[in-house]
This record gives sequence, C-alpha cells and structure tokens, in this order.
Amino acid sequence: MRNLVVLGAGTAGTMVVNKLRPRLPDDEWTITVVEPSPTHFYQPGFLFLPFGGLRPSDVAKPLRPTLTRGVRLVPAAVDRVDPEARLVRLEDGSELGYDYLVIATGTTPRPEETPGMAEGMGDSVHEYYTYTGANALAATLATWPGGRMVVHITEMPIKCPVAPLEFTFLADAWFTGRGIRDEVEITYVTPLPGAFTKPISSQRLGDMLTRRGIAIEPDFVVEQVDTEARTLTAYDGREIPFDLLVTVPLNMGADFIGRSGLGDDLNYVPVDKHTLLSTRYDTIFAIGDATNIPASKAGSVAHFAADVFVPNFLAHVDGRPMPERFDGHANCFIETGHGRGLLIDFNYETEPLTGVYPLPVVGPMSLLKETRLNHWGKVAFRWIYWHVLLPGRHLPVTAHMSMVGKKAPPAVSATTTTTPPAVPAGLD
Ligand SMILES: Cc1cc2nc3c(=O)[nH]c(=O)nc-3n(C[C@H](O)[C@H](O)[C@H](O)COP(=O)(O)OP(=O)(O)OC[C@H]3O[C@@H](n4cnc5c(N)ncnc54)[C@H](O)[C@@H]3O)c2cc1C
Repeated sequence: MRNLVVLGAGTAGTMVVNKLRPRLPDDEWTITVVEPSPTHFYQPGFLFLPFGGLRPSDVAKPLRPTLTRGVRLVPAAVDRVDPEARLVRLEDGSELGYDYLVIATGTTPRPEETPGMAEGMGDSVHEYYTYTGANALAATLATWPGGRMVVHITEMPIKCPVAPLEFTFLADAWFTGRGIRDEVEITYVTPLPGAFTKPISSQRLGDMLTRRGIAIEPDFVVEQVDTEARTLTAYDGREIPFDLLVTVPLNMGADFIGRSGLGDDLNYVPVDKHTLLSTRYDTIFAIGDATNIPASKAGSVAHFAADVFVPNFLAHVDGRPMPERFDGHANCFIETGHGRGLLIDFNYETEPLTGVYPLPVVGPMSLLKETRLNHWGKVAFRWIYWHVLLPGRHLPVTAHMSMVGKKAPPAVSATTTTTPPAVPAGLD
C-alpha cells in the first residue's frame, strides 16, 4: 500500500483528493487529508457578507460531505513535516507517514504582523478575508453613519488580488442604495503603483474608481496603524486618517511550513511553477495558495492547476515524465456593483486583455468590460463551486489560457504578433 497525504481540505486540497480517489486503486493507495476545520468555506462569498448579500449557509457547509468516499479525514492541525523521514506530526503529537505529500494549506491574514492593526480589529479596523471578520464588518456597517472609509491592502501577495477592488465597488453601490453615499469619503490605499498589478487592467480599474469619486493612494507601504488617532502611517511618512479602516492584513502561508524548513519568508512552498513539484523533495507537491508560484492566489488558479496536477501526479508516481505544464492560468469575475461585473483572464505571460472569453452555452463573456452577464457569471459560480469544482467533476473550460477572443494591446498588434509583452512575474 502507498500513502498519499494531503494537508488542508480547502479549495485545492478537496479538489485534489476528489479527483485522485477514482484514479488511484483503493487496494494500492490510501488517501488521507488532514484538516482541523469542521467547515468548508466558499471564500469568494465573504465579499458579500458585509452587505447582507448572502446567507451564512451559502458560504459555509459541513466539510466531511465535501470529501469523496474512500478519502480518510484526520481532523487535526499539522504541527511539522519531516521531509527526510516522510512524516507529518500533528498538533496532538500523533504522526502520519507518507509516500507522497501534497501541501494545500492556503494562506491566511495576519493583522498581528502590522503594529497597531490587531488592536483595533472589530472596532475601527475591520477585515473581510475571514468568515468571522466579514460578519463583524456586516454588523458595523449596518449602523455606520458614514465618514472616512479607507479600503486598504497591507502587502502583496494577497489571495484574490481583485477582492479589495470588488469590496470598494460594492461598498460604493451599497452606500448609494442606502442614500448615504454623500456622507462617505472612500479612499483606496494600496502598496501597488495603481489600482491593480497589470498595466491594462490597472488603467481600466483605476478609471472605474475615479468615476465613482474614489481616491487612490498608490505606493503606500504601511508602517503602523494608530487606532487612537485613527491614522495609517506609511514608511515614507504619509499619514491617512480614517473613521473606518477596512484592511486586507498581510497574508502568510501556514506556520508549520516555516517550522519545517519548507517555505520562503512568507511560508510559501517553493515549487516548479509548471509542475508544482517541490524544488527540494520529489515526494512533495504543493498546490493552491500555499505555493510560491508567480500566479494569482485564487480558487480559479487552484482549479486549473489541479487539472494539470492530476495527470502529472499519476505519471510521477509511476516513474514516468510529467506530461503537463501549468501556465499560471487565472480567471476572475470582479463584481462592480449595481448588478454588473467584469471578467479577467490571464496567465504567467499574458496580462488581462480586452475582448471576449468564449464559454460554451452561456458565453461569450466580455473581458475587462462591465456587463450584467459577468455579474450572473459570478452568481452562478457559487453553485458551480459547490456542485462541480469541489466534487472534482469536469468543467468544460480549458486549464490552459487561450488567446481566442482576446485583443492584443495596440503596440503589439502593430508588430503583427499576437503575443502580448510579458509582465513581470510575481506581482500578484
Ligand atoms: C474575500 C475573498 C474573495 C475571494 N474571491 C475569489 C474569487 O472571486 N475567485 C477566485 O478564484 N478566488 C477567490 N478567492 C480566493 C480563494 O478563495 C482562494 O484562493 C482559494 O480558497 C485557495 O484554495 P487553497 O486550497 O489553496 O486554500 P484554502 O481554500 O484557504 O484552504 C486551506 C485549508 O488548509 C487548512 N489548514 C491551514 N493550516 C493548516 C494546518 N496547520 N493543518 C491542516 N490544515 C490546515 C485550512 O483550514 C483550510 O481549510 C477569494 C478569497 C477571499 C478571502
């Protein structure tokens, strides 16, 4: 018997075990997943909780039923991995041996890493990257009379790098709907040089903020939060006052990754960006937000990566060369308020472009353009997540990014090539 142990049953870990169980014979392989949470969260839904847009049961469901029969669940947290001995030590002191390990423990917000941030949390400081935080923000917003709202990103990379923009658009629409938009001054404070990481989408999304009367404060690297004075201070001395700070704290991979000597300085696991195999151990893969790949940390990336990972894993454990190469494919619906949304589609080499995204039956969807269809795409995605992606069923979209329907930027069209310029990797 060979043992596959998967750490974390979030988006990536669950897809991996559910896709692999039917492909690995029961009498040859055990599949064990280690996960302390009894609940599986649909994290994109956290964005809507502050505005009363979804019910808790839409975003949180019991975890065990999300796992295919034949997958053993160990309800515990990992304390350490010993890659030489191929052992996983759990926080209760017990140990699990493995032949192959998949690390899928994601990334989490760490407000305690920024001086002053954790102290104000739940009072004048809020976040929506956890279930608890999103619900606490909903309670505060329900009675907030207005004032200076600062929407803030502490440092990149964060998971779902467009989520702070979506939050800002949704807040603008929500305050408008409540008739208090004139009482609210919204400032978007980011460590990036613009609204987003890539030039074309940054320009478009920045224009959308400006049109809504939202100020952008770029290149802001926060040094501390003063909850008494209600100010954010940057290392360059800039100070921004707030009445309500809605922040995305520093995101970091799981602490056991650091303790095990398996991570970089943010506890992300270095892997080959095309195969997801550890750069140091050929018995360890990592997938989803837990890796250091220069792609967005997003559920869509975890999904496309899982499609590539499965045939690669099956080949690798058979001693054959891995047949597939992951290209960093990401696509994200961006809610823009008032029942509209944008869609972006990109990979390691190609930034989000305009044009259309072909989709069987319902598509094509417009890229980088606000439409109602894109909003309905986002709404439908929640159902697809629970009923198609998480169970490991096939979704008829390609794992690799396609240029079909995309418009290359003008400078590139002029040279008659269809390959747009590469953007610096790792910005997300
Ligand atoms: C507000 C918000 C909006 C988002 N919107 C989108 C979107 O629109 N589109 C999109 O594609 N993505 C979106 N995302 C990102 C998406 O949710 C994540 O990228 C995705 O969940 C990553 O999957 P993962 O399995 O790597 O990590 P997770 O789903 O976070 O799972 C990690 C799992 O590991 C477990 N774990 C952690 N530590 C340990 C330990 N020590 N031992 C054992 N288990 C452990 C955790 O409990 C968790 O279950 C959004 C995220 C947020 C927060």
